[in-house]
Amino acid sequence: MNRNIYMTDELQAIYDQTVEFVSKEVTPHGDAWEESGKVPRDVLQKMGALGMFGLRVPEEQGGLGMGMLASAVFSEALGASTYAGFDVTVLVHTDMAGPHLLNSGTPEQLEQWLPGVLSGETILSIGVTEPDAGSDVAGIRTKAVKDGDGWRINGTKTFITNAVYGDMTIVAAKTDPDNKYGITMFLVPAGTDGFSVAKKLDKHGWRCSDTAELVLDNVFVPDDQVLGTVHRGFYETMKNFQNERMVLIGMGVGAAQVAIDQTLAHTQERSAFGGNLFDLGAIRQRMAMNQAKLDAVRASMYHAAWLGDEVMGAGQDNVKEMSGVKAFGAEAIMQIMYDCVQFHGGMGYMRETPVERMYRDARILPIGGGATEVMLEEVAKRSYQ
Ligand SMILES: Cc1cc2nc3c(=O)[nH]c(=O)nc-3n(C[C@H](O)[C@H](O)[C@H](O)COP(=O)(O)OP(=O)(O)OC[C@H]3O[C@@H](n4cnc5c(N)ncnc54)[C@H](O)[C@@H]3O)c2cc1C
Repeated sequence: MNRNIYMTDELQAIYDQTVEFVSKEVTPHGDAWEESGKVPRDVLQKMGALGMFGLRVPEEQGGLGMGMLASAVFSEALGASTYAGFDVTVLVHTDMAGPHLLNSGTPEQLEQWLPGVLSGETILSIGVTEPDAGSDVAGIRTKAVKDGDGWRINGTKTFITNAVYGDMTIVAAKTDPDNKYGITMFLVPAGTDGFSVAKKLDKHGWRCSDTAELVLDNVFVPDDQVLGTVHRGFYETMKNFQNERMVLIGMGVGAAQVAIDQTLAHTQERSAFGGNLFDLGAIRQRMAMNQAKLDAVRASMYHAAWLGDEVMGAGQDNVKEMSGVKAFGAEAIMQIMYDCVQFHGGMGYMRETPVERMYRDARILPIGGGATEVMLEEVAKRSYQ
């Protein structure tokens, strides 16, 4: 019997297919990818060939036309890979950058770019954050100025996932000097003159995900590479925030479940004090609480996804609910990973033990895609009159 009220047969099939894919095509190779700092393109293209990049793409454009629940299922299933660097490579493409193209792209832009996005030939990134502006998106300094039949863009972006090895960045730039929210989004393909990777960044976790510092030095883009409405990019970007927040938690839930399962197995096998570690009340109770917390995060994530899902759910505003899931979920997952390392003892500190990597990978969850404190402000604003 289905154990999740939102899980239809179709969603279950996506979950099962994705878990099977990552167990065969990702987990066995993950260590090598972590070492090289790169997810090979052929694995992404295999996912593309299986239709995995089209869950949110409308049917008439070659996808499945599904909503947030599909992204919740997909992200949780990817999390089972235990290589969050791989998971985020995929989810930035499908759920953080891709939706900007889908929501705002003209028919011509969709015709030009979507086939490559669906097949994995064109891997996307989203370039909003800058050295001087992260949480405060309106503080970005990258500027685009009208120049003939296009725009000149100048500025620097940092922490941009998929921008070292990817193919196109959706870049946010200020276009209205009189309005701090006057931001426009631009399609900037890799290789455009003046657009370069200044540095491949070296990270604490997500080692196989590539993260770039980017420079835009007098980059010219023609008018047909403006994505969405001029000066309205800030609001268009915000439309996808709940989805971004959700998939980060989804992949964390998938990983935390594996971490709990591995810790239960380890503590049951490990002999100590005349029995095994799991027989010790302090350990079994804390792991039981961790499972209860994870179940709560998972259930509230699916509920918030259902609230926002326009295809299978209520299609309502879910900012308060999803921001709460992001805040509580990220902190809970971090603490679960801490305990999983703790109960592995010294082995938990060894690179060969998967929870060591999962613990490092989880640290970004309370920071990226809306820091916990920023999320709590979103909840607070909507909780009181
Ligand atoms: C590995 C990685 C990948 C990333 N990928 C991308 C990407 O693909 N594209 C992209 O555009 N960005 C990306 N980011 C950027 C990420 O979204 C930002 O790091 C995040 O939004 C926080 O911004 P910041 O780092 O500038 O921190 P700041 O905004 O300087 O905030 C620092 C800390 O201050 C606290 N804080 C901030 N605002 C408030 C507030 N209002 N109230 C109380 N406390 C607050 C929080 O604890 C926060 O962590 C990535 C970051 C990392 C590390």
